[in-house]
Amino acid sequence: MKMYYDQDANLEVLQGKTIAVIGYGSQGHAQAQNLRDSGFHVVIGLRKGKSWTQAEKDGFEVYTVSDAVALADLVQILLPDERQAFVYKEEVEPNLKPGATLVFSHGFNIHYGQIVPSSEHDVIMVAPKSPGHLVRRTYEQGAGVPGLLAVYQDASGQAKEVALAYAKGIGCTRAGVIETTFKEETETDLFGEQAVLCGGVTELVKAGFDTLTDAGYQPEIAYFECLHELKLIVDLMYEGGLSYMRYSISDTAQYGDFMTGKRIITEETRKEMKKVLSEIQNGEFAKSWILENQVGRPVFNAINRKEQEHMIEQVGTKLREMMPFVKVKK
Ligand code: NDP
Ligand code: MG
Ligand code: MG
Repeated sequence: MKMYYDQDANLEVLQGKTIAVIGYGSQGHAQAQNLRDSGFHVVIGLRKGKSWTQAEKDGFEVYTVSDAVALADLVQILLPDERQAFVYKEEVEPNLKPGATLVFSHGFNIHYGQIVPSSEHDVIMVAPKSPGHLVRRTYEQGAGVPGLLAVYQDASGQAKEVALAYAKGIGCTRAGVIETTFKEETETDLFGEQAVLCGGVTELVKAGFDTLTDAGYQPEIAYFECLHELKLIVDLMYEGGLSYMRYSISDTAQYGDFMTGKRIITEETRKEMKKVLSEIQNGEFAKSWILENQVGRPVFNAINRKEQEHMIEQVGTKLREMMPFVKVKK
């Protein structure tokens, strides 16, 4: 594994070029402002709406997607993943300058063949490993968030240098950038969010909460044990790994951890994780998500509604409002 830092990147390869950032949401607003502060000429491509107003307020030249693409030497696609293929076909592809570079922050559409750029374009990925708001905030503080870079298509022979310059422009080389492939980034990102970070954790939290409340314990106590304290434990793991977390908890907690963990994440769970991974690798998950979007998200919306009604959500809303140190998010 090689880590790239500021000294490995040369901003000059992008000097005098116009960068179109398409989309001004979580990643778009952060990457566009960081690039501008790094001295690049940035224009924004959008449809009329909330983001358009915000981008103008932030002092950017805002155009329709078609017009922004037509101006650009480098086009960074920061639309929701499930809309990218459609907008690419309608507004990006017909207006791409010859030799323009396409940039992504997630590999889904390229890896699963939803966007197929012509071979004359460089296709690269620069993916901050962080939510957009931290991409902006850490940059303003003079630091950066780590990132990944990948080259999918190198028509110019300069694709990697351009990716490094872009990564430097958004601040990622201040923290360190690792090279990967579109395949590896896409498959590991989907697996991580499904099995561990989002799907795994939310089910674990709810299962623990339900077990305690079904047994008659107070929901407020169950909330603190199974959700609130999770952050404190994760912070310790983030700072010093599993060992540091275990050093910090009581020996009773550590003995319980050793005895019980494998009864919760069983051999069967690990077998299922392998199955989840294979469905990501063979495209089954991608197909199901693409089709779900094509029919207007009936399953997504139904589950989303039901999840919001879970008791842990009602209890949590009430408790967080009573905790002035928790920044309440609705
Ligand atoms: P958001 O949903 O936050 O923002 C999407 C933006 O696209 C909005 O500005 C929206 O504007 C605009 N948009 C939507 N549809 C259209 C359209 N048809 N035409 C023009 N503009 C449109 O997306 P994210 O920033 O979360 O994601 C962007 C990319 O970054 C994705 O590939 C994602 O995987 C990747 N990524 C995201 C991370 C994150 O932290 N969120 C982390 C790493 C990668 P409007 O106001 O008009 O709806
Ligand atoms: Mg993801
Ligand atoms: Mg405890």
